Amino acid sequence: MLLKNNNNDERCAIAVHSPPPPPPPTTAAAGIYIHIPFCIRKCPYCDFYSISDLSFKKRFVTDLIKELEMRADPALIVDTIYFGGGTPSLLTSGELEKIVAAVTKSFKFPNKRQDLQITMEVNPGSVKESYFKEIREYGVNRLSVGVQSFQNRKLSFLERIHSADASRQTILSARDAGFDDIGIDLMYGLPEETEKIWLADLEAALECHPEHISCYMLSYESDTPMFAAYKRGDIKPLDDGKAASLFKLTSEYLVSKGFSHYEISNFAATLEHQSIHNKKYWEMVTYLGFGPSAHSYYFQLLSDNALFKRSWNTKSVHKYLSLIENGILPVAEQETLTNEQQLIEMIMVSLRTDKGIDIKSFEQLYGECQFEIIFKDVINQLEKRSWGKIEGERCRLTNDGWLFLDTILRWFVNKMLK
Ligand code: SF4
Repeated sequence: MLLKNNNNDERCAIAVHSPPPPPPPTTAAAGIYIHIPFCIRKCPYCDFYSISDLSFKKRFVTDLIKELEMRADPALIVDTIYFGGGTPSLLTSGELEKIVAAVTKSFKFPNKRQDLQITMEVNPGSVKESYFKEIREYGVNRLSVGVQSFQNRKLSFLERIHSADASRQTILSARDAGFDDIGIDLMYGLPEETEKIWLADLEAALECHPEHISCYMLSYESDTPMFAAYKRGDIKPLDDGKAASLFKLTSEYLVSKGFSHYEISNFAATLEHQSIHNKKYWEMVTYLGFGPSAHSYYFQLLSDNALFKRSWNTKSVHKYLSLIENGILPVAEQETLTNEQQLIEMIMVSLRTDKGIDIKSFEQLYGECQFEIIFKDVINQLEKRSWGKIEGERCRLTNDGWLFLDTILRWFVNKMLK
C-alpha cells in the first residue's frame, strides 16, 4: 500500500519503491520520427547513424514504406512527422512524397493540414528553391537547417560540406518557397572559441530571421574521429569555465532578442514556433521511430494496465533492409519500463525544459507521495546554489542549474533509489 506522507522522508522513499498504480495512457497525439540514414560525407564529431553509400537509397525508401505498413495503426492519432538523420534532404521530392503518403495512410491525422507539423532537417547547399516548393506541396511545413556556423573557419574545423554563404542561400531559398517556420542549428564550444566568435554566429543567425534556433555545445562522442583526435591530444577542448560562459551568453543574448529559452538547447521566437515534435520526447508522449537506429516510446494496454515500452531498430542499413525484405520487423531491442524507470525518465526529460517537473503529475502518477518531501534535500541544494527552485506546481532549473544538469539528475536519482 502507498503511504500518504506529510513530513517523513523515509516513509516517502518507501512509497516510491512500493508499486504505484500504472500511469494512465497519455491522450496527447503521437509523433512519427523517420530516420534517413544517408549523408554525403560523415562529419568527424557526429555519432548519429548514417552511411555515405547512397546506392541503397532507392531500396531503403521502398523498405521504409514497408516498415510503415507493417507497423500501421490507423487508430493512433498523430500530429507530427519529423524527418531526421542523416540527411533527409538527400531524398528526392518524389521519394518524400511517397513516404508522407505512407505515413498518412498508416495512422490517423488531424483533419486540417495546418494541424500537422511536418519537419525536415536540411543540409545547406544540397537543395534548391524548386525542391523547397515541391516538399512544401507535399506537406513539409517546418525546416531545421543544419547551419552549424556562419564562419568558414568553424565550418572547416567541423569538416562540413557547405560554406556560410551556402547556408544563407538555403535559408533565402526556403523563404522564397514560402516556408515561414525555419529553424537554424548552430554549434558552439569549439576549441579556442571566444565569446566574440560565438556572438558573431548568433548575430548572423538573427540576420536570417529564423523562427527557431537550436544551439548545441560540441561534444566529443566516443567512436567518432573527433574523439580519437582529442584522445591523441591533437585537439584541446574548450575548458569548462569558458564553455559555461558561452552557454550563459547564448541564453542572455537570444532572450534579450525576444526568443524564449524553452529547452536547454532550444530557443523559439514565439510559442507556436517551438518544436511540437521534440516536445513529445520531453513530455513523454508516444513517438514511433522508423528507419535504422530509430527509437520508439509507447504504451500497450494489458488487462487495463498500461505497460510503457521503449524499443529501437537495428542500426545497420544492410540488416534493416534484409529483415524488412524477409517480413521481419527490424527491432533490435525492446524493453518494458518499470515505474521507477518511468519516474527517472520523467525527471530527466522534464528538467531539460523551462517548464521543469510538473509536481502534481509526478505525485498523481507515481504514488501519491509528496515530491517536496522526497526531494527536500535536493531542493534545498538547488535553492542554495541558485540552480533551481519550486515555482507554484513546478520544479525548474535556472540557467546555472542547466550547466550542472548531470549532477542534479544524479541527486534526484540517488534520492529515489535510496
Ligand atoms: S550531416 Fe549531420 S547527420 Fe550527417 S554526419 Fe554530418 S552531422 Fe551527422
